[in-house]
Amino acid sequence: MRRRGGSAGGGLLLAVLFLGWLGSVSPALPVVAIVAVVVLGVVAKWPRRCSVCGNVLRRAVYRWTIDGQARRVCSTCNRSLEAKQSYAAIRRLT
Ligand SMILES: [Zn+2]
Repeated sequence: MRRRGGSAGGGLLLAVLFLGWLGSVSPALPVVAIVAVVVLGVVAKWPRRCSVCGNVLRRAVYRWTIDGQARRVCSTCNRSLEAKQSYAAIRRLT
């Protein structure tokens, strides 16, 4: 008689079976799969940083296109960028 495990145990069993299957296809594949999962987990939890001042972005994230590149900036840098932009716009007008 086999006892049914919890959902987490079942998922782990499935993962082990999947890795075993990958290993039967190619011995390098389970290693690649584990590394990919770890990297994805790290990237998903990685704190995003402001591309101007380097502070960790928490709630407010503003998107700016600086020198043709999309960047995320914090609220402080957003304010200074806005000020710079309006200053440049006024200078262009006068
Ligand atoms: Zn910033």
